[in-house]
Order: sequence, then structure tokens, then C-alpha cells
Amino acid sequence: MRVIFLGPPGSGKGTQARRFGEARSIPQLSTGDLFRSAIKEGSPLGLKAKKYMDAGELAPDELVIELILERMKLPDCEEGFILDGFPRTLGQAKALDKALAAQNLPLDRVLAFEIDTAKLVERLVGRRICPFGHGEWHIRFNPPRREGRCDVCGEALVHREDDQEEKIVTRLEAYRRDTEPLIQFYEERSILSTVQADGDMGEIARRIDALL
Ligand code: AMP
Repeated sequence: MRVIFLGPPGSGKGTQARRFGEARSIPQLSTGDLFRSAIKEGSPLGLKAKKYMDAGELAPDELVIELILERMKLPDCEEGFILDGFPRTLGQAKALDKALAAQNLPLDRVLAFEIDTAKLVERLVGRRICPFGHGEWHIRFNPPRREGRCDVCGEALVHREDDQEEKIVTRLEAYRRDTEPLIQFYEERSILSTVQADGDMGEIARRIDALL
């Protein structure tokens, strides 16, 4: 199964993509996570992406496309994948179409997460992530078992630099301007479904399972 989870930052698509991927034994491919790992490793690609990420702006298409297409070549993607945070621009969506068409691998579905902007800010400000990519929690809505620690590896959780309020505004603007038009792009291909992403995580998971 090849699916895209599309939605604004803070809509919970990363958490749901991780869970869904584990349940279906397909990898969750998050370009944000891939960039954060590249930055941690000090790779040239990570260094190039860092200044955009820190500012809450989108990284240039060529950088993201190179990153994700390389990742999709790994053997764990043979049975499919969930794209989380990619594509985010029409240029990226078209590049993805081209790459998949060249291998005769159609997309099965695009799931658009719908949620109020006010809720997004609240979710992002309280979000804490594992620096080793084991997941994310929320200080109020989804606290880890041990305060401030990753449930999986016990590492201290971090508040992302771009989850500060002023950066969030820039990121939400980028979403409205560059990413929201993808909803229509996939609607026209008749592969779009929408999921109400507000409320209990278990309930949202059930809605997703029913759609896919
Ligand atoms: P995320 O973890 O998905 O919120 O991504 C964090 C940051 O990584 C974004 O604010 C962008 O700077 C960069 N990024 C991640 N995915 C993309 C993408 N598909 N296109 C452009 N920039 C991206």
C-alpha cells in the first residue's frame, strides 16, 4: 500500500502514520525526520536544510525530492510506504508522480487531515519529540509515561526549535500557500479522502483504518 498522509503541522499525521505503519508493516517516511537525522549526522544535505527548518520555511524542492526518492529505493519500501510530510508543494507532487509512474507503482490513497488552526497552535506548542525519532508526545494531551522522557528509549524529550509560537505562524502560512493546493490536485485524481483529525487519538485511528 502506498499512501500519503497530508495535513498541516500539528494535525497528528506523524503519530497516526507511525501507528498505521506499524500495524500494516510498512515504513512511515517522514521528510522532517529524515532532515533531522541528516542534521544530527552533519551531512551536507542536513546542513543545507537546516537554515530553512530553523526559520519554519520549506526546504527547496530539489533537496527534498532527492532525499525522499533515495529513501524510497530501500528494500523496506517494496510492500509500500506512508509518506508523512511529503509532498508539500505541487512541484514535489509532480516529481513523485513521475518517479512512481516510471516504476509502474500507483499511489493508493491520499488522506487529508482536517483540523482547526487554533487547535494546531495548542498542539505544536506543547509537543515534545524523541531526539532519536521514536515518536512524539504532548505535555497535556498525550504525556509520556515518565515526565519528559521517551516511552521507547528513555531519552530526554525535546521541544523542537520550530515548534515555538513565532515559527509556527510561518509554518502554517507555508502550509496554506504551498501545500493546501495539493488537496485539489489529488481530488482531481480521485484518490483523496479526508479525515476529521480532531479528538481522541484512538478514535482518529479507527477513522483512518476504516478509510484505508
Ligand atoms: P516536519 O517535521 O514535517 O514538520 O518538517 C520540519 C521541517 O522540515 C519543515 O518545516 C521544512 O523546513 C522541512 N521539510 C520537511 N518536509 C519537507 C517538504 N516535503 N518540503 C519542504 N520542506 C520540508
